[in-house]
Order: sequence, then structure tokens, then C-alpha cells
Amino acid sequence: MFLTISTTGTAEAPATDLGFLLHKHPDKAQAFSTSYGDAHVFYPEASADRCTAALLLEVDPVALVRRGKGKGRGGAPDATLAQYVNDRPYAASSLLAVALRTVFASALRGVCDKLPGRAANPLPLWIEVPVLPARGGEPLVRRLFEPLGWTVAAEPVALDEQFPEWGDSRYVRLVLEGELRLAEALRHLYVLLPVLDDAKHYWVSPDEVDKLLRAGDGWLAGHPEQKLITSRYLARRWSLTREALERLELARLAEADDTEAEEIDNAIDEQTDTEDKPVPLAVRRREAILEALRAAGASRVLDLGCGQGQLVGALLKDVRFTEIVGVDVSVRALNEAARRLRLERMGERQSTRVTLLQGSLAYTDARLKGYDAAVLSEVIEHLDLPRLPALEYAVFGAARPATVIVTTPNVEYNVRWETLPAGHVRHADHRFEWTREEFRAWAREVAGRHGYGVEFAPVGPEDSEVGPPTQMAVFTLTAKEAAA
Ligand code: SAH
Repeated sequence: MFLTISTTGTAEAPATDLGFLLHKHPDKAQAFSTSYGDAHVFYPEASADRCTAALLLEVDPVALVRRGKGKGRGGAPDATLAQYVNDRPYAASSLLAVALRTVFASALRGVCDKLPGRAANPLPLWIEVPVLPARGGEPLVRRLFEPLGWTVAAEPVALDEQFPEWGDSRYVRLVLEGELRLAEALRHLYVLLPVLDDAKHYWVSPDEVDKLLRAGDGWLAGHPEQKLITSRYLARRWSLTREALERLELARLAEADDTEAEEIDNAIDEQTDTEDKPVPLAVRRREAILEALRAAGASRVLDLGCGQGQLVGALLKDVRFTEIVGVDVSVRALNEAARRLRLERMGERQSTRVTLLQGSLAYTDARLKGYDAAVLSEVIEHLDLPRLPALEYAVFGAARPATVIVTTPNVEYNVRWETLPAGHVRHADHRFEWTREEFRAWAREVAGRHGYGVEFAPVGPEDSEVGPPTQMAVFTLTAKEAAA
């Protein structure tokens, strides 16, 4: 299995910078052992004008069979000769993707301390995979790579060049050409090589969804073939595929979200604040939440649907909050949160207090157990109503913190917002907005089902007729339940 990556350069920006970006020196040939055999990295050419890095994976067919045994999709070991006589050792496939991840881990993440500017910018790239198993042939190869900005050549490889009448094999010779960031290019290969191979050899565990979403960050959501990619990558395990597609969809919607939500808050602020120094609604919300957390005596706190981390930042400023975990489905929001909070530059004492996790609140998550309190600030209205019971179970049934604080818009207040047409919600991604009565009815039912008590509080200037712009519920686990 073989793959080459080439770039061109100039005297000022030499092509050999590729060595820094890949974290592999062009003058050395290096070998790395992977679970399936040895991976070699070397440079067939390395000059300022042009530089090519090659990755060669020598698959150990015996290791492959041993590791595969009993772990296959059906569980039962396949006793046929096919497991010994197959193309795995020769054709680029999912094993090459594993090797890419092992050998170029930092490059995949786009990390390059020596040349951060080169890592952050597109390079002219040529990538060649001489023998690529491609189920779906050239048309599918194009459908996968072209939307990502690649110019694609995928020539079918003849079964036997001496006997053209035998026709083509299921392999293509792939050449990709484009101006992309190296990390992006590697992530495309990491996901799409196994997708084309469509014979994922190893056990597909639930954390494959996380791996796929991490590698697909920034390009998979919105790819015209995202369904095929997701389903094949996850070896057609439907439950995992559905989870991945749902998280992709949420991530896509969340991208537009934060700025728009802020604009709407600001519009409300402008209308409602008559005092000399107006306090933005988002700030009032954070203050109300912090107050409720302090009153509950919480020190270990989950911020569920943390977005860009404004509340996490506010929690960090108060030393009583010793452990703060922000969770969001959107990788983009979490990256932005990490940047705003300056996580990378934070001192060790501070940084041990804060963790950001990617995950969907529509699924139970063992990582969320055992906290004092959880906050859902302006989050529930982003879920389709039929998904709300799943969130309810994940938070109140499984994670079960002593205190849960939920805020959501009060739809009655919308009539006070002049620019909002009657009957409209405040934001395109709000799947619903509730009246005070609807919110209270839901909250009381949830509390009753899970052994919590609940109290309500207004947030923002309260209107005598339609109430406050934001409504808040504070749930407290009853003493009996807490002792249980
Ligand atoms: N809590 C923040 C952000 C609210 S915007 C604040 O009060 O300002 C809603 C956030 O919920 C977005 O960041 C969105 O990505 C996240 N979100 C929506 N559905 C989610 C889900 N199912 N799981 C986790 N996060 C979700």
C-alpha cells in the first residue's frame, strides 16, 4: 500500500517545508510499527522546487488475520481461505488510513509549531494512490473528492494489462490535485480511503462516530454525499450512522447560531433597556444562572450546550467552581470556546478546572455523571420536540446532578419585540418557543418523573402582561432521591 504527497515551492517558501508540516525530516527514511505492520515514510524527491513524501505500509497478513478473528461484523471467525488470500496487503485501504493517523497524527490536527503560517494556509498539493480499491469506481471517486475542491483523475486499473479483454479491476489509480491546507487534505484521505474501500476490516465501536466527526470537522457537514460517507465509514451500522448524521446536522445548524442569537438578544436589549447603562439580556441570564448555582452550593458544574463558552468563562472567574465542564455538539463552537477562553495559554491551576467535551445531549453519556449541577442555557429550544424526552432522560435520568438550571425564551414576550413578525420564533433554529404556562407544565412533569422539585424565576425586565423575555427553572433533586 502506497501513497505520495507532493508540493511545489520557491526559494522563500521551499517545498521541503512539507517535512516540517508532516513532522518527518526529508533527509531521513523512518519506520513506524502499526497494528497491521510497518509503515515507512521517505522522500523520493526533496528540493526547494518540489518535494514528495511517500507513505508505504507493509501489511503483515498474519497479524491482520489474527486481529480480525472473532472481531468481524458478525462476530464469528471466517474460516475460508479468503482471509489469507486477499488484496489487503497490496491495496490502499482502511489500513492505510490507520497508518496515516499513526504516522501523521500532528499533521492531521494541523499542528506545526515551527511553521504555523504554512500549516494554516493552502499549499499546491498532488496526492497519488497508485492502487486504490474503489467500490463505485471513478464516478464515486469524483463525487467524493470534487466537492472538496480537488481536481480528480481516477483511471481504472486493468485486471491484467496483457489481457485487456478481461476488463477492469475494482481498483483505480487516483491522482488528486488542489490548493488545500495539508491537514484538510490528510483528513479527506483519512475518511474517504476507507469509504471507497468499503470493507472496513476492524471492529466499529461507538467512538468511531467521534473519530469521524473530528476528521470531518469543517467539510463533512454539508458534503453532498455525507450520508453515503457516514454509512460506509461506520460499516453500515445504522444506529451509529443515524447518530453521526444527527450530530452533523446539529453542528451545521449550530454554526450560524451564536451570532444570530446574540443579534436577537441585542435587539431586545435596545428596546427594553431604559436605564442609563443597559445590561444585555445575555449578561442578565448569566448572572441569574451564577446566582442560582451559588445558592445551590454547587462547585462541580456542567454547562450543557455551552456554545462559545461565555458561561464557562464566567464560572472560571469564581474560585468556588472547582470543576467546569462545557459540552456541545458543535466542534466549531467548542474550538471557538477554546480560543476565547485561551485554553492553550492558561496556567496549569486554571486549566485543570475546565474541560470541553463534544457530545450530543440526545444520548446518555457516562462522562456527565456525578456533578453537582447542570446548566441548559437557551438549549432545549434547539431540539426537535420529539427529541426532548431523550435529552430529559440523558440529563435528569442518567447524569442526575443535584441541581439542573434550564433557561428558554418566553414566547409571550415576542409581541414586545417590534421587528419580530407575529407568530415567529426569535431564531430560525428554534424548533419551538414556549409560553410561561407551557414551560412550567413541561418542567413540573420532568421534575415529577425524576424525583426533583422545581422553582421558576424571570430573567430580564418583566412585563406586567406578557412576563420576562427569558424564563428560568431551577430543579433540585429531593432529599429522598439524593440519598437513594
Ligand atoms: N448555552 C449557550 C449557547 C446557546 S445556543 C448560551 O446560553 O449562550 C445552543 C447551543 O446548544 C449551541 O451551541 C448548539 O450547538 C448546542 N446544541 C444544540 N443541540 C444540541 C445537542 N443535541 N447536544 C449538544 N449541544 C446541542
